[in-house]
Amino acid sequence: MSFRTANLSVRKFVNYSMKNLLFTALILLSVLSACNFSNKNKTDNMDTDKTNNPYYSNTDTNKVTPDDDQLKKILPADVYNVAREKGTERPFTGKYWNSKEGGTYYCAVCGNPLFNSNGKFESSCGWPSFFEPISKSSIIFAPDNTYGMHRTEVMCGRCHSHLGHVFEDGPPPTHLRYCINSVILDFKKAQDAEAKFKDSTNK
Ligand SMILES: [Zn+2]
Repeated sequence: MSFRTANLSVRKFVNYSMKNLLFTALILLSVLSACNFSNKNKTDNMDTDKTNNPYYSNTDTNKVTPDDDQLKKILPADVYNVAREKGTERPFTGKYWNSKEGGTYYCAVCGNPLFNSNGKFESSCGWPSFFEPISKSSIIFAPDNTYGMHRTEVMCGRCHSHLGHVFEDGPPPTHLRYCINSVILDFKKAQDAEAKFKDSTNK
């Protein structure tokens, strides 16, 4: 082998190694960024908890008919039990029975706005209590004669999930008490837009 040929071979080898190194680095980089991306997605899911729920929206007013099997996979067990199996959380255990914060309460299944904090009142029953819903269409009613009682069931007007019951022992002006499970409510603190909405509905 002449010096010239040997020199060429070395150059070829160096070239080949460099290419390989670059290729490996590129693969490593894309794998790393893919990991990073999926981790980020995971955190987002955990933060909002709604990205895998196709029925959830705070603004869409179209009715939805969720599939129970699908909801069972999406919703936490306690939310599913109240929403689709008409369960009741134990009194004084929910997140909102004693809450006095200003804001809006949405359906935890579909995001439908249900109640405003200005329609909430202090009740000793152990569940969040409201004297009026956010609008007439936000909820629907059905007779409930289970457990030997004559009660009126309250359901979400958009997705028909069970929310609780309404009784006629509330404060004025409606004298109604919407007794709602905390677990079926998503609360969002009042923001400018919501405050404006409240003002416009009070007029
Ligand atoms: Zn709903």
